[in-house]
Amino acid sequence: MDPLPPSSRLDRPGPARAPGPGGAPGTTPLRSGLRILKFGGTSVATPDRIRAVAGVVASQAARGPVVVVVSALGGVTNDLVAAASVAASGREEWQERLERLVHRHRETFDELRGGEAEETLDAELRLLDVDLRDLLHGIFLVREASPRTKDALLAHGELLSARLVALALRREGLAAEAVDAREFLVTDDTFGNARVLPGPTQPQVRARLGRTVEPGEPIPVVTGFVGATLQGETSTLGRGGSDYTAAVLGAALGAEAIELWTDVDGVMTADPRVVPNAFPLTELSYAELMELSHFGAKVVYPPTVQPARDAGIPLVIRNTFRPDLPGTVIRHHVAPASGAVV
Ligand code: ADP
Ligand code: ASP
Ligand code: MG
Repeated sequence: MDPLPPSSRLDRPGPARAPGPGGAPGTTPLRSGLRILKFGGTSVATPDRIRAVAGVVASQAARGPVVVVVSALGGVTNDLVAAASVAASGREEWQERLERLVHRHRETFDELRGGEAEETLDAELRLLDVDLRDLLHGIFLVREASPRTKDALLAHGELLSARLVALALRREGLAAEAVDAREFLVTDDTFGNARVLPGPTQPQVRARLGRTVEPGEPIPVVTGFVGATLQGETSTLGRGGSDYTAAVLGAALGAEAIELWTDVDGVMTADPRVVPNAFPLTELSYAELMELSHFGAKVVYPPTVQPARDAGIPLVIRNTFRPDLPGTVIRHHVAPASGAVV
């Protein structure tokens, strides 16, 4: 695992490196069969769910190489946003909120490690806790959370979850390592809603993750949602942005599919929280998905579609808790016969 403490990664100049193997930032597949598996917040909300994710990854990895992308534990990004605004308003209560967040991750860590010492990971998690405290304390002192500072804070949700999910995979008997996307995912400086710059990002993704397809390489568990600007400052991709991370990685690596594992059976005819008899669609075109999201279906983060569509890689929506179901496939051309009216 990367020995650098998390805070020193903030200064890491990502984009100045030479292009990796493969040269130009193209979309030539490194090897067919690689799939990106992204797990959202509800899929990693509790130790039991994280273990279920590890089970899904184990069975998928038996079929071919995979890169895992994870969101923060369910609710953590919201909690971090709330803690920042409490601190910015000058209320001491930010400390309790911090303690609750630290406690939640610590409990998850203790459950997942199951009696093993895990000293390196323990030390890393403590460093992240210190970072969190420093950031919130800073916000409290200046009574302001700028978008840039907020991004540095919010990134901790995914920095923590990637390490915890990698631990669960190792417990499942798989070789796995947490990977900080700030090493290669370069964005503009629209803090809070940054867009990925494919020019510098693609060769760096290939240089860092291209080896994943080789037998015996550890499965990378990449932080979703998080990137770094050309200046090396932490940025985030907008709420729901882990989907976008998965698509960017899939495009750069020429993946066979970008699978978004979530808590519903696929893209439904309507939001299942609102319309109880909504049912999952088998297939959808990228254009139909965009249209659905214009009408408020927040099942896929909209910026996800472009990198997948441009590279011609299908997006697949699947249920972590019902892995036997096929889910919904989103691609260019969809047979009209499959279309239910949305
Ligand atoms: P994740 O945490 O896995 O990223 P999200 O909460 O971002 O999951 O997206 C999944 C949720 O999107 C579902 O739980 C569902 O309530 C909601 N949703 C809204 N519209 C739709 C739709 N048309 N089809 C499926 N899910 C939808
Ligand atoms: N954790 C981030 C959020 O809650 C990103 C994501 O879940 O996709 O928005
Ligand atoms: Mg989401």
